[in-house]
Amino acid sequence: ALALTACGREDTGTGTADGTETAAAGFDQGATIGVALPQKTSENWVLAESLFNEGLSEAGFEPDVQFANGGVSEQQNQISAMVTNGAKVIIVGAIDGAQLGTQLKMAKDSGATIIAYDRLLLNTADADYYVAYDNFRVGELQGEALLAGLAERKGDGPYNIELMAGSPDDANAKVFFDGAMSILQPKIDDGTLKVLSGQDTFEQVVTQGWKAENAQKRMDTLLTGTYSSEELHGILSPNDTLARAALTSVKAAGKETPVVTGQDSEVESVKSIMAGEQYSTINKDTRALVEHAITMVTDLQAGQAPEVNDEESYDNGVKVVPAYLLEPVIVTEENVKTAYEDDPVLGPITQ
Ligand code: BGC
Repeated sequence: ALALTACGREDTGTGTADGTETAAAGFDQGATIGVALPQKTSENWVLAESLFNEGLSEAGFEPDVQFANGGVSEQQNQISAMVTNGAKVIIVGAIDGAQLGTQLKMAKDSGATIIAYDRLLLNTADADYYVAYDNFRVGELQGEALLAGLAERKGDGPYNIELMAGSPDDANAKVFFDGAMSILQPKIDDGTLKVLSGQDTFEQVVTQGWKAENAQKRMDTLLTGTYSSEELHGILSPNDTLARAALTSVKAAGKETPVVTGQDSEVESVKSIMAGEQYSTINKDTRALVEHAITMVTDLQAGQAPEVNDEESYDNGVKVVPAYLLEPVIVTEENVKTAYEDDPVLGPITQ
């Protein structure tokens, strides 16, 4: 990946990562940069809003940062408005990565560059770059943490587990699940893990809109049904919000705390890990991700192709989107003190 990094930077006048010829695409320093964020389904998105506003302003750009709390059509309208406002780059954290094709085409036709942020944009030729934490790796880390936590806290197997996944319209949700299942499926096959509900496909375990209430409802049903007289040892949760929802459900059912995974390093989950409840989370420092997105904008402004380090993993159905991937880090009680040393919010809480 590092070798690719070294040659990823080239003048756009000589062609881009996908081989298409583009004119050197520099633009004015004070240009408008659109940032279309999804719903506030986890803390990382809320943090991204202020970081983009501050970071883009500091770099001399005019930020236009929007949340689409009303849903997909609101996000479509926001992107159209960014095009009308003359945005030179549009950074998109999609609610539904497959529903923005018309607006992205419009943006591309206007000369804007499109950067998919955190979530891939699907079935479109108009996504130029992708910047994200390695989503498959996130899932692998979650699967590994679940196994480690079970061995640590629940004695010898076999273990009863349940699986949860994120929202099916978010391209990341399936990738997280597939990454986790690449670790867990062999253990299901050899009998170490038992999914007593029988719900083990992505479609069966999704959580619409990444909503805590949906995860909690499903877990309530499983606990009163499948687990009325069985122990539940572990839950694969794709993020912290849903992990806490699952733990709430387990507590209400009066069950022993299962090993529960997470993601995002949300404040309440980090506290829960320190208290020995939630087992793990993932550190995907939002500051580093936003910073890299802004570096891409700065490169584009100067007429240079942004640096990428992965040109094969993210096929969106129409093209492989050149990506810059950052490394996610697993956090458990064991490394919670060191993991957030430099984090302005989590540092003081964990020291
Ligand atoms: C992000 C996760 C987040 C989820 C819900 C995903 O696309 O990658 O970090 O937990 O959205 O907001």
